[in-house]
Amino acid sequence: MCAMNTMESRFRGLPSVDRLMSEPEMVKLSVSYPHDLLVDLARQQLELERISIAAGGQVPGLTKIVKSICARVDALLSPGPRRVINASGVIIHTNLGRAPLSEEAIAAMNRVSAGYSDLEFDLDSGTRGSRNTHIEQLLCQVTGAEAGLVVINNAAALVLGLTALTKRKEVIISRGQAVEIGGGFRIPEVMRQSGAKLVEVGTTNSTNIWDFEQAIGPRTAALLRVHSSNFKIIGYTQNVTIEELVTLGLRHDLPVFDDLGSGCLLDTTRYGLDPEPMVQQSINLGVGLAFFSGDKLLGGPQAGIIVGKKHLVDKLKKHPLARAVRIDKTGLAGLAATLVNYLKGEALDKVPVWRMISAPLDEIERRATSWAQVLGSTARVVEGESMVGGGSLPGGVLPTKLVAFGGRVKKGEQNTAQLLARKLREQEPPIVGRLSGNTLLLDPRTVLPGEEKEFLQALQNAAASVLAN
Ligand SMILES: *Cc1c(COP(=O)(O)O)cnc(C)c1O
Repeated sequence: MCAMNTMESRFRGLPSVDRLMSEPEMVKLSVSYPHDLLVDLARQQLELERISIAAGGQVPGLTKIVKSICARVDALLSPGPRRVINASGVIIHTNLGRAPLSEEAIAAMNRVSAGYSDLEFDLDSGTRGSRNTHIEQLLCQVTGAEAGLVVINNAAALVLGLTALTKRKEVIISRGQAVEIGGGFRIPEVMRQSGAKLVEVGTTNSTNIWDFEQAIGPRTAALLRVHSSNFKIIGYTQNVTIEELVTLGLRHDLPVFDDLGSGCLLDTTRYGLDPEPMVQQSINLGVGLAFFSGDKLLGGPQAGIIVGKKHLVDKLKKHPLARAVRIDKTGLAGLAATLVNYLKGEALDKVPVWRMISAPLDEIERRATSWAQVLGSTARVVEGESMVGGGSLPGGVLPTKLVAFGGRVKKGEQNTAQLLARKLREQEPPIVGRLSGNTLLLDPRTVLPGEEKEFLQALQNAAASVLAN
């Protein structure tokens, strides 16, 4: 009882909502934001303070409470995702939103989102149309496929393909490819969800075409290949090629499903990278369906793309699940514009992912040198590697020039690399670098040309606050 009373009296140390609302900071906020909203947020903050006091916390002062309310207003009314500058050197960085888009893609997305569009309207006849018609011909032209369909992402594309074509049947896959793609996306679980029975053949590091052949039975519906896009098995490995699978499939009248993951349309070996399977090759070799993402190596907006044989794609189009995973108008417009970049042969110049992959080393070095100058004698330009990242090209790295800051940290001394990394993240826009041990690495390759000025200003600000420390 006594304890209760003390608690009550400590609660009484908190200001009233009216008292808070009359504080100058709150009055200033009420010019821009509705009174009721501010009152609500003030109440929420007071409730949190009571919980904290009940747990033994201090009674906060008026200024502190007002500051917390301002932070709540800010968090609620300036929501993320916020733009950041990626100086990490990871080109397709899933945590940073994967692919930045070409100007043409951005413009197309702006156009369709600002007003109405002929998304599902045939302007010629004046009747209902299909959203897929805008993209299908482009997909066929770029990949050489007979038909194509776009959904929200590649995970959904796979679920749709397996559900529509292999439900209650068997799908054969090499054991080494029954993997987790990342973000908890596990191939065996996806197949179970789709109602397909997974038949794993071979071993983790070695599968032979005979393993597939022996597993084919009356219930087999497809042969599946999943590109190992985020890991690499080194040492003794053996796997079946897509050619072998297609040949086997032909003999048994079974389609091959090829989950390519990254959706590469250009030859990565020209830039010193490992070969990444290209969509056109799979189609040319005769796979039934190829599945890939729009926002990995394709360099477009988030999307899942399915191309392949017409009779198979048609079944997917008609499946009820296709409606549940259909792409939105902005994604569709952005993807179409990105595919036009490829068709016009301008992807290397205009699609940022490819501009980054093909950036000349001397240009990167020139930029790194000018960045290092901002940081003064504490930084140096070093050789390093950019990563393609994002579930494509496992171990796919490109030689680059990095700005390195920090290094050895003596006992009891401040880790300046970590400090600078933090200060950079606190800039507007925030900058994300790469910490390697006690060294902060900044890679010009992933900083877009239009961001350079802002980047240098932010770098200057962050460096000043670190060096002053
Ligand atoms: C990334 C990836 C997926 C998932 O694609 P999302 O577009 O992220 O849904 C599926 N399969 C492979 C092989 C991948 O690399």
